Order: sequence, then C-alpha cells, then structure tokens
Amino acid sequence: MTKLKYERPVIKKMNAGLMNKFGTRTEYQPVTHIDGVGVKDMIKKYGSPCFVISEKQIRRNSQNANRAFKTRYPKVQFAWSYKTNYINAVCNVFHQEGSWAEVVSGFEYNKALGNGVPGNKIIFNGPDKSEKDIREAILNDSMLHIDHFDELYSLIELCEAMDRKPRVAIRVNMDTGIYPMWDRFGFNYENGSAWNAINKIVASGKLNLVGLHCHIGTFMLAPWAYGVAAGKLCDLMYHCKTQLNVSIQYLDLGGGFPSANTLKGAYLPGSDTVPSIEEFAEAITTTILNYGFKQDELPLLILETGRALIDDAGYLLGSVLANKRLSDGRRATIMDFGVNILFTSFWYDHKISPAQEFTHHSEDMVLYGPLCMNIDIVRESVNLPLLNKGDQVVVHKVGAYNMTQWMQFIAMRPNVVLIDMKGTTHLIRKAETLKYMEEMELMPTFLNNK
Ligand SMILES: *Cc1c(COP(=O)(O)O)cnc(C)c1O
Repeated sequence: MTKLKYERPVIKKMNAGLMNKFGTRTEYQPVTHIDGVGVKDMIKKYGSPCFVISEKQIRRNSQNANRAFKTRYPKVQFAWSYKTNYINAVCNVFHQEGSWAEVVSGFEYNKALGNGVPGNKIIFNGPDKSEKDIREAILNDSMLHIDHFDELYSLIELCEAMDRKPRVAIRVNMDTGIYPMWDRFGFNYENGSAWNAINKIVASGKLNLVGLHCHIGTFMLAPWAYGVAAGKLCDLMYHCKTQLNVSIQYLDLGGGFPSANTLKGAYLPGSDTVPSIEEFAEAITTTILNYGFKQDELPLLILETGRALIDDAGYLLGSVLANKRLSDGRRATIMDFGVNILFTSFWYDHKISPAQEFTHHSEDMVLYGPLCMNIDIVRESVNLPLLNKGDQVVVHKVGAYNMTQWMQFIAMRPNVVLIDMKGTTHLIRKAETLKYMEEMELMPTFLNNK
C-alpha cells in the first residue's frame, strides 16, 4: 500500500460561494482522454503545458453552423475569422469545410493567401490596411470592407491611378439595443454616416459596392440584436436599390456568437445559458426573408463566426507545480500555465478537470499561473479535488483567441497539437526555443561581451 499524502489540517471559514439554483457543484469527473487519446500520453510526448485541438470538434461545429443557416436560408457563406485562431492547420480545416477567409491585417491577408485561399474569397476588414495591402487586395479581387472616410477617399484615389474597380462593402455600426454600442468601427447607421458613405461610393463611379457589413460585438447573448442588425442592413440595401439603382449582392452579419464558456460573475454556467447557433440563425434569416425582397434578389448571407466554432475544440493540458497556504489559510495551487498563454482567463471562469482519479475531498482554492506577477490568476476561487504536485489537468474551451493573443512573457509558447479524425496526433506549432526568440535581436558590437 502506498503511503497517503499528508495534508495539514486547516480551519476553514464557511463560505457559501457563488451558489446557483442547483446549489454548488461538487461532483467532478476526471478527463483522462480527448477524442480517445490519453491526456498523460500527450503530455509525455508534447510536454506540459501544451494546447490540443480536436479536428473532429471543429468539423462538427462548422457543419452544425452551416446546417443551422442553410436549412433556413438559400444562400449562406461562412468566412473564417483569422484572428480567432490563425494556426494554418486550424484555418485549413475550416477552408476544407468550405469557409472563405476573413482577415483584419496585411499579415493575416498573406497568411490566407499562403493557405491557398483564392484572393476573391478573402474579406479584408479592419481600420488598418496599408496602401500596399490595398493594392494587393485590389489586384486579387478581394472584398474590401471600408472602415472610415479617410480609407474611402484614399481608395478612390488609388483606383483612379490603378484603373481598377474593386469590390467593396462598408462596415456599418448601429444601435441594436445592446450597450455599450460598438461604434468605433465603420460608419454609423442612425446618424446618416453609413448612407453618406454609400452615396459617396456610388457617386465616385470608381468602386463596385457589392456588400454591407456589420459586426455588432463579441460573445453576444441576445439573438434578437442580430435581427435588429439584419433589419438595418436590409433597409440600407433597399435604399441602394430604390434610390441609387445599386444591387447589393451580400449582407455580412459578422461574428460574435458566444461559445459555451462561463463569463466571470455569471450566475449559471455558460453551457446552460448560452443561446444556440440555431437561435441566431433564426433571428437573422427570418428578418431577411420577411423583409420583402424578391426571391431572385435575396442577398448572399455571409457570417464571420470565430469564437463559437473553435472554442470548445481547444484544450490546454497542464501540471501542478506546487501547493501552498496563503496567509488567510486558503489553499493555493500553482500551475505551469498562466495568463501568458491563457489570456481568456481574464474574462472566463474556465472549467478545469483533473486528468487522473482523485479522492472526493475537495476544497475552495485559488489557481495561480507560474509567472512572477500578481495578476497571474487562472481561477480566483474554484472548488476542486485536492491536486498534488505533478498532477495534471485539462482546461476546457480554450480554442478561441488564446493561440493568437498569447504573450511571450517570462516563458515561451508551448507546443500545439491537433488530434485528427482517426485519433492520431500531429504537432501543428512547435514550442518556441531560445534560438527562435532571439532570432530577431541584434547586438551592437560595442556591447558584445563574447
Ligand atoms: C473578431 C471579428 C470576428 C469574429 O468574432 P467572434 O466574436 O470570434 O465570432 C468577425 N468579424 C470581424 C470584423 C471581427 O473583427
């Protein structure tokens, strides 16, 4: 018999914590496998921490979202939001599922081209497009989504010089009943600025206005807000036709659907409260279909969904470095991953499962990351079975934004692994090395001490 680990007795303040109507949840299940692959085997092979992505889950999410919209509306196209996760292998799963690319910088634009996405299936959004980026996008017949008047004027000037008539859309921001309003991007609907931009585009004769775009927010919990947004884009499209004789070919409703993560401070877990993609599809497609367009004039509906399609396909595997007691007696567990690679722990209460069997003795604890920095907290207060040094954990739903917003701070970024449809693992991004990190540094000779 192995000797049981000694746990020093402590006096605990009774703390009800954040109860919900089901009481506090104390039952756990160890997560020992992901898509049939052993968690401990992956950690042995790829190190701790490491990110794991399920190809099966990406395809399932993508097909589910396509089904939700295509069963309700005849013309639907998804465009993968690169900034949500632009590891090339991940993007290519989406492209294999039929997604175009949605990019917000020259860097992302070139990544999409490098992944083999044809230029005319790339949507170029965002306030920061250099003249060089715009020239390239024009030559490739990409869709340029104009963000502000300065961009519009320089685009008109450029088209005159290049003698090309690019396909453009404007980004529209609007009051959808959700506050704070995202009004920093694009042209406002209510104050007439969107209509003004449309008039200037059409009057210039230099640009081919093919679409109208909005992206009303992120982690949006109100499907009806998308109905409001779709209605306002339909109004603009209708006025384009009746007043300017311009046929708009597509309405792009952007992204923003939530994943099933739990926002900090939420009363109930996200998996119980987040609306399904069908509810968003229903709100959007009903509005467009009922607007009154003729059947053959219905616009193509584009969606730039990011988070909702990738979050639950991503896992972070990690290990316990140490346990300690804080001065108030609280248990603190230090993990080998922190906010440097798990950026989303700033706003989500990520679900964390032990990767091995455990005793059913649990305790409220704080989970810290390994950084020498006070804000490096993975969970401020979570009730978990006691984790010992060397134990391993699985963090759930980390596929969105972590692998693009991760910081190279104090430590380097870890391996990223894809589990394919057959349950084989593939390294899709190597852990960084000191050599890689220092490749961009230069040493003036007078400081070279070697
Ligand atoms: C970030 C972004 C998206 C994706 O947003 P999600 O909330 O991840 O779905 C889509 N379109 C634009 C313009 C964006 O900036």
